[in-house]
Amino acid sequence: MCGIVGYIGKRQASPILLDGLRRLEYRGYDSAGMALNAGDRLEVLRRAGRIENLRHLVAEANPQADTGISHTRWATHGAATDENAHPHRDQSGKLALVHNGVIENYITLRDGLQAEGHVFSSETDTEVLAHLVGRYFDLSEEKDPARRLASAVQEALSRVKGTYGIAVMHVDAPDVIVGARLGSPLVVGLGQGEHFLASDVSAIVAHTRDVIYLNDYDVVTLRRDG
Ligand code: GLU
Repeated sequence: MCGIVGYIGKRQASPILLDGLRRLEYRGYDSAGMALNAGDRLEVLRRAGRIENLRHLVAEANPQADTGISHTRWATHGAATDENAHPHRDQSGKLALVHNGVIENYITLRDGLQAEGHVFSSETDTEVLAHLVGRYFDLSEEKDPARRLASAVQEALSRVKGTYGIAVMHVDAPDVIVGARLGSPLVVGLGQGEHFLASDVSAIVAHTRDVIYLNDYDVVTLRRDG
């Protein structure tokens, strides 16, 4: 289990995310990545190895985004490779998800999704969660995209056995980050016109000391203004 940092606000997200990941470095990790809202698509940057490797990738891509989620991975399912690094995407490629923890029933869930035509590109338990949330998002009749994403997360998690702290973004719900936890820590940081999500308060304490520790089974929707 390792680290999560998310940001939604008005500032450039990538330096805030990289700084937060560095503050979680002491916990150990084997790869790191981030997903950023680049308007009509999500930019996903991820690398095995040190956060420095991710920093180079971010510097090259020079993403301009005010919303993003990021992760340091401590591999439990699948080797420490670029492909297994988080964030993972769903079948549509429009959803990105980072996860701390272990999805115990991921093989059963993956078999069901594969039977529906889903194609997986990693060896992780986490990718199943991304596909499952994406599936419920796509099937939903809810018109409000933020509510649609939060309820897709809830529906997906109701089928999961295991532990999770997650952060999720979707191109079609560009003004929110959804988080949830069970057995893995997750903290919301409150700012002015910006909000943070982290697995450990040390990742965001440079920005705010106003925090909410989520409880197991909590699902949170972060917007710029609330
Ligand atoms: N089980 C997931 C994986 O192996 C998440 C590991 C973590 O908590 O960093 O990718």
